[in-house]
Amino acid sequence: MTVFVQDINGNPLMPTERCGMVRRRIKEGKMSIVSYEPFTVRLTYDNGKNYVQECTLGIDSGTSHIGLSVTTEKNELFSAEAEVRTREVKDKLKERKENRRHRRCKNRRYRQVRFNNRTHSKKAGWLPPTVWQNINTYTLLIKRVSSILPVSKIIFEVADFDTQKMCNPDISGEEYQHGQMEDHLNTREFVLWRDNYTCAICNKNAFTDKVKMHSHHIIWKTNGGSDRPDNQVCVCEKCHNKIHKNKAHLPENLNIKARTALKLRDAGLMNSIKWQAVREIRKTFPDIPVKVTYGYKTKSVRYEHNIEKSHANDAYVISGNINAIHSDRIYLYRQNRRHNRQLQDFAPRSRRDKDGKFKMSRKERKKRGYVIKRCKEIKEIYGFTKRSLVKYNNKLFTITGLRATGNFSLRNTKDKTESIDSVSHKELKLIRKQYKSLYIENVKKR
Ligand SMILES: [Zn+2]
Ligand SMILES: [Zn+2]
Repeated sequence: MTVFVQDINGNPLMPTERCGMVRRRIKEGKMSIVSYEPFTVRLTYDNGKNYVQECTLGIDSGTSHIGLSVTTEKNELFSAEAEVRTREVKDKLKERKENRRHRRCKNRRYRQVRFNNRTHSKKAGWLPPTVWQNINTYTLLIKRVSSILPVSKIIFEVADFDTQKMCNPDISGEEYQHGQMEDHLNTREFVLWRDNYTCAICNKNAFTDKVKMHSHHIIWKTNGGSDRPDNQVCVCEKCHNKIHKNKAHLPENLNIKARTALKLRDAGLMNSIKWQAVREIRKTFPDIPVKVTYGYKTKSVRYEHNIEKSHANDAYVISGNINAIHSDRIYLYRQNRRHNRQLQDFAPRSRRDKDGKFKMSRKERKKRGYVIKRCKEIKEIYGFTKRSLVKYNNKLFTITGLRATGNFSLRNTKDKTESIDSVSHKELKLIRKQYKSLYIENVKKR
């Protein structure tokens, strides 16, 4: 196990593998524990000169997963994968919009209609919130890593996606100027032509059977489906109605095709992020040189050395020290949101009865001028915080919902599909409190 070491001022030193020595030093009071995950200690005395080696941080960029790896020539010191919430941002902004609309007409604090005042989106260099979220996550992760390791160089992989090549691997030269929809008025027209004006379910033809044809989104737009032709299919009017009533289903191979079309969306996002991210990292860490590498280079090196594909391994390859010995554990980061946007009726305890319910109706409360405002999110209750690591039935869980009643929702840290809706705090054993929104949820042994 690698123990990360800081000097008396909190500057990172080289890590150590000598756990026995660290244990003795802690007992003697020469070291103090800074954090348990990753295990970091700080010297309590001034050790004079600090000797550090060249450490390179490799970053594998991505919209949902980020890989991190710090290597010296001989060893890999730190390896991590982060699951970030870039995709969630879009949904949350939609939710906010709905909440605001709701507040204009419902029994809530009045929210003024806003229009024609979105100056921020007119400024030069404006980027969508999802992009900013992604970029800020990079800088946050680098900050975390450089607080435990003396990072002297950053290598950042910018993904260069060729969206046309992803659809058609044999494309070259002039073909790039002739997209698949050339000579067609719109996507619907193209989709019908491509599918021979034949329904994908009942095989009826528009001309021979005289039926009306529709273009249907295989992954619905409400589920994040794209407008690309790969996500659309020609169906007749009757079958289309059935699909939307869940009475008919498309063949499975069409669904697979539509899902691959979804990947292009991430590619487009990464293409727009890349240089802005590099600029932002350079600005935030002026002392550390930032180098850029490309996805295809990483891929070829990975094939050459026969390394398995994973975000952590990609980052290891990006860091450039291909002969370094792998670290024995991978830290799995997870990112969660800090606040929610729910509004709640606020009334002091004296206005409530024994069960916590209001003594008077909402109408009455409003008449008397009780405030309705954003309720402060509960940060800590009975010694538990949101995202704390707890033990329940001899299994490890994270708290996903913290309630004032003391009954919490849990999610299994290893098997993420297992979740429990409501467990009393009396049945839980606290392993580690969690305060940060980006935190280590699990440790994978290599
Ligand atoms: Zn049909
Ligand atoms: Zn449809």
